Amino acid sequence: MEQKLGEREIEAEFTLESAALCPHCRQPIESLLVVRLLRTKVNFVSSLPRRGQVMLCPKCEVILTGSLGGLI
Ligand SMILES: [Zn+2]
Repeated sequence: MEQKLGEREIEAEFTLESAALCPHCRQPIESLLVVRLLRTKVNFVSSLPRRGQVMLCPKCEVILTGSLGGLI
């Protein structure tokens, strides 16, 4: 499922098992949008993973959490 959020492409939407309040917009949300992070600049000795993802509130589009690593 793909949705457009401005110029960005939302790759996936995940449904929460129970509703939660967004800490930014204070609205109840039932899903999170997931956007991939791709590493574009890196220090020579960096051991950080190549990829990651951030999760956005579907209502206010604020980044709520993110992680690096190969979950997706
Ligand atoms: Zn929100």
